[in-house]
Amino acid sequence: MLAQHISTEYRIALPPWVREELADVPDLVPELDDRMRLVHRLADRNWREGNGGPFAALVAESETGRVVSVGVNVVLASGVSSGHAEVVALGLAQSRSGTWDLGGAGMPAHELVVNWRPCIQCYGATMWSGVRTLVVAGEGPELEEITTFDEGPLGDDWAEQFERRGIRVVKDVLRDEALGVFSAYRQAVDSGGLTVYNARQGAGEGEA
Ligand SMILES: [Zn+2]
Repeated sequence: MLAQHISTEYRIALPPWVREELADVPDLVPELDDRMRLVHRLADRNWREGNGGPFAALVAESETGRVVSVGVNVVLASGVSSGHAEVVALGLAQSRSGTWDLGGAGMPAHELVVNWRPCIQCYGATMWSGVRTLVVAGEGPELEEITTFDEGPLGDDWAEQFERRGIRVVKDVLRDEALGVFSAYRQAVDSGGLTVYNARQGAGEGEA
């Protein structure tokens, strides 16, 4: 019977190497550039570990730079297509904070730092998370061109839509470094042995 066979939970978890990668990182990372540097480090290691795509994110308190959570893309490791870095980081931040609203009363202002403009899924996830600021290393077609991941039909007014909801968007923080990570990933894909996990094996659309 169905009741005996359906799943009642699924697991999204950071891989064990993340703690190792964070071993020298203090609780407070006051400079935004340093927070993005950490995101790039995690993104680069993530694909090399075979865990998922070259994507990472973190949630921090904007004023102090206190890092609340980090996320990496765990699609391959978890077998869950929504396991993108932003969703993982936001979920872990909310779990640690004990609330679904990172912008709730009495909460410090939170930011999401990510190594490119979010895909269409993470666009929504960011909008509903309660963060007050979204920081991206870059936007534009380079991510899709280099990595071949499909980011979905995001409108040209994506940043404006955030701003209209009180979410500040900060762009172009260590952009070249982001492209460097994507290019290294692409080279590895071209030389074989890596899976680009677009849905339906890339027939039409997928996710990043
Ligand atoms: Zn995404």
